[in-house]
Amino acid sequence: MRSLLFALALAWPSAAWAWECNVSEIDADVPLAWPTRTIPYAVQAGIGVPLADIEAAFDTWSEVSCSDLDFEIAGVVAPGATGTVLTAVEADWEHDPDAVASTAVIYVQATGEIRSGLIELNHAQHVLVDVTTGCDGAPIPHDTRAVLIHEIGHLVGLAHTTAFVGGPDDPTMSPQVDPCDATKRSLEPDDVAALCALYPIGARGACHGRAVRAPASDDEAGGCTTTGGGFAGWSVFALLLLGLKTCRNARSGG
Ligand SMILES: [Zn+2]
Repeated sequence: MRSLLFALALAWPSAAWAWECNVSEIDADVPLAWPTRTIPYAVQAGIGVPLADIEAAFDTWSEVSCSDLDFEIAGVVAPGATGTVLTAVEADWEHDPDAVASTAVIYVQATGEIRSGLIELNHAQHVLVDVTTGCDGAPIPHDTRAVLIHEIGHLVGLAHTTAFVGGPDDPTMSPQVDPCDATKRSLEPDDVAALCALYPIGARGACHGRAVRAPASDDEAGGCTTTGGGFAGWSVFALLLLGLKTCRNARSGG
């Protein structure tokens, strides 16, 4: 599958790509990207998601053969840990209640260098399970791994793609992951092309004119927003010249 995706990525005319980059709030020509190709991440203890599922989600991006971006699990940590963390919110979800998950990155405004990230799963309003073993209940569950893979796309600097029709072959970076939908577990050529543009093997990445400025308001469900200052829970990073970009994964609408 990996080589097939790579071949498709090479064969696909560049004009067909629809992926978008997140960019610095002060310069739309500066894409957000990690400065190193191995990203350590930690998992908050007790979030109720098997580590194997979490690692499989990160591996889905690591295994893209035309990119050398890699992830390394740094362990299981207590609530409130700093660094790049995956967590779940059981109550008091602070974002759009329709959002199944949210990803925020702290980056240097001038360079776009991502310094840290936070992926939150919304266990307060939604149910996330392995839908391949069953998809019943109310609310209708979402597939944990598919949602995570989408959020990891935001973690590496991607915004939502503009090429989607609501079908099983839509890119994983389409604006939403529907309930019971495990098809987003696999990256599509548009996702692969995005990753390999931002993190090509042994070379500096670029957005190739596909950068997109984040909406100014916080109202757009399923979109990415930029917040200046006021990093609640991120006081260690609350320095001047840093920006906070948050992307939410809407359940419906938006
Ligand atoms: Zn999203």
